[in-house]
Amino acid sequence: MSEHMLPEPVVRIEEVRELARDLVVIPNRRVQLVPNIGVIGGTHSVLVVETGMGPRNAETVLKFVAEYAAGRRLYLTTTHFHPEHAFGAQVFAGEATFLVNRAQAEDLAAKGAAYLDMFRGLGEPVARQLEGVQIATPDVVYDDAYDLDLGGRVVRLRAAGRAHSRGDQVITVPDAGVMFTGDLAEAGQFAIFPWFPPHDTDVSGTRWISVMRRLADASPRVVVPGHGDVGGPQLLADVRDYLELLRDETWARRDSAVSEQTIVEEVRALMIERHPEWAGREWIEKGVGCLCAEHPA
Ligand SMILES: [Zn+2]
Repeated sequence: MSEHMLPEPVVRIEEVRELARDLVVIPNRRVQLVPNIGVIGGTHSVLVVETGMGPRNAETVLKFVAEYAAGRRLYLTTTHFHPEHAFGAQVFAGEATFLVNRAQAEDLAAKGAAYLDMFRGLGEPVARQLEGVQIATPDVVYDDAYDLDLGGRVVRLRAAGRAHSRGDQVITVPDAGVMFTGDLAEAGQFAIFPWFPPHDTDVSGTRWISVMRRLADASPRVVVPGHGDVGGPQLLADVRDYLELLRDETWARRDSAVSEQTIVEEVRALMIERHPEWAGREWIEKGVGCLCAEHPA
């Protein structure tokens, strides 16, 4: 979410990739504010992961999924409440059972409207996709863990605990070794820290590091990040390494009573040097701000 004009965040049913039997991803093609969208099938049901931003994108997704499901029952879940992941859920009402973890449902109810306003300010192309958004209410809410039986395939939905947002959820398909991380992991870009004090300070760099360690322990074969190219387990290690380095470099300077502005400048330069090819450089500063606030006094 930088100040410059973002491109139209449109989901396109292109380059759809089969990651395992009856499991496909509609890739984001590295378009900002378009998420990777998962479609996971079993004998009697199909689970959709993420809606795309706004009703028109969600209609595109629903049309594809309805054809793909060929009469099977539909479920929808989202990795967290952010607009490009969840603000199309209204389109699935009556077509799919919308199922999420409790912390995410609470995020959506408490902060959905404020995020709608904030994202409308990101430029005309984004505002256009957000026209007509109504914050949806999930049909089923679980606390920490839910095993969804699609018929011959059980998908694990797990609340991650507060990290990128308060209500992050990770979806794994054990028989295929596939993990959907949402924005807990991105490929080819710096970790997104939605650090917007005083409005939203739920992101936690330190908790995020713990979550990444846990996700790596699960040893998935395939990792579908929130944004960017589908990868392997190295993706989880890369994010963890980045977050740890960001924390260590920030805290070392904080210990030496360096001003926050100098910390930002120095750490930003260091991270860009380390990852010159990564996009989203504006998120480094947000990450430093978050980790300064988490510095043990
Ligand atoms: Zn997000």
